[in-house]
Amino acid sequence: MQSTLAIIKPDAVNNLNSGDIVRLIELNGFNIKEMKKTTIEKKDAEKFYAVHKERPFFKELVNYMTSGPIIVMVLEKTNAIASWRELMGTTNPDTANMGTIRKMFGQSVQLNAVHGSDSPQAAQEEIKFFFK
Ligand code: UDP
Ligand code: MG
Repeated sequence: MQSTLAIIKPDAVNNLNSGDIVRLIELNGFNIKEMKKTTIEKKDAEKFYAVHKERPFFKELVNYMTSGPIIVMVLEKTNAIASWRELMGTTNPDTANMGTIRKMFGQSVQLNAVHGSDSPQAAQEEIKFFFK
């Protein structure tokens, strides 16, 4: 059993899509081990996305992630990290497969509805970041 961090981002919460997204998570066999609705401050968003700090979209990404409430979850499943990224779809909703969350609920490469850890080390750090 593996754990990963999932976030329903501000656009999806604001557009009333969090219920549908949680339902898809359940139907795809994840155990929701932790779940909370919260907001993050600029400093924390900068820390969370530190790997992207040199990227041109960094500042906008931080503004977006601090623009409203988010729902943060720890998901458990066999191969949870890859399995959750598969259910999310590609970063850009335009290229995401049919049936993925980003295809259904993402609006753009930035406003793409959900986050998922990309490696076991990232998952461990990101879970610690939100659930001390
Ligand atoms: N992002 C963006 N523009 C880009 C690439 C990414 O605004 O060209 C945002 C988007 O919200 C994405 C986040 O930055 O989810 C983190 O990017 P990453 O490459 O880690 O994509 P992810 O792992 O979320 O698929
Ligand atoms: Mg990423």
